[in-house]
Amino acid sequence: MTIPLRVQPGIGEGFASYLRRVAHTLGTSPRMLAIDLDLTCGETTGLLLGPDTTHRIAERLCLRPDDLDDLQLARWHQVVLDLRLLGHRQRLQRPWIDYLNTRYCPWCLHENGYWRLEWRLPWICTCDEHEIWLHDHCPHCNKLQRDDAWEAHPTPPRNCLACAESLITTPTTEAPPDARRRTYAAQGLLAAEDSHIAGYETDPATTVKGWRQSVAIHRTLQRHNQRDPVEHWTAPDADHALEQAWPLIDAPDPATAAAVVRRWMLGYQKPWPFTQADVSKFIGPLRHALDDVRAVWGTRHH
Ligand SMILES: [Zn+2]
Ligand SMILES: [Zn+2]
Repeated sequence: MTIPLRVQPGIGEGFASYLRRVAHTLGTSPRMLAIDLDLTCGETTGLLLGPDTTHRIAERLCLRPDDLDDLQLARWHQVVLDLRLLGHRQRLQRPWIDYLNTRYCPWCLHENGYWRLEWRLPWICTCDEHEIWLHDHCPHCNKLQRDDAWEAHPTPPRNCLACAESLITTPTTEAPPDARRRTYAAQGLLAAEDSHIAGYETDPATTVKGWRQSVAIHRTLQRHNQRDPVEHWTAPDADHALEQAWPLIDAPDPATAAAVVRRWMLGYQKPWPFTQADVSKFIGPLRHALDDVRAVWGTRHH
């Protein structure tokens, strides 16, 4: 059966949001719609869909397959996540890659009525449209928001999946300009614009990896003892981690990048913490900065 109406996907919308809206228009639950479309649990999360499934449901929803591809995180394959890791969830580097939760902007939900796919990305922390922090939790039940249309209750698309209360009245906080600039830089990576890290031009996938590694380097040198891996970062948490590492990430040239690491190292006051194996995992620009510092450090501390 073809779905008896055509719902146009919103600009930048995610798949679960789209399914929730179609289900709402039809007066059914997202799960009933998914089952009707022969989707299985796990195919409603907006990560990726196989080409056969995409073609099949595109026809049913009166969309082009390309429209459906744009609703999946896989559209940013390589940049945001290595999809080969999806079969190995324990290897996903949370909180950098979140395969289920989403943030939201209450004002965007109010104005557009749909959820943006980029809210799934932990390093998108502010709303560029409304200049406010994105939210992670429901103000009513305090649950994280799941981006999954495998939902048995017919909850309106602007509402919390857990408690069904509306999210559009969530109190908002203005985001500082620096945080907005970092989110803007992240959006530039998604748009595959020119990107740089530690003073080198790199492709967006390498840069994103470098963001994660720069935060790790900073945390090591600040002796940030984080034994338990964080499962989820709220927008201000994630941006704070980036803010700390930003002088390295955003260094205008390699010499400045090395100077930043040297400054961190001075506060560290311990032997060089990175083994050769650690360093070999870093992207080239960060390896150069570290090698530069280690050369100086080695002569002073041995
Ligand atoms: Zn917004
Ligand atoms: Zn709730």
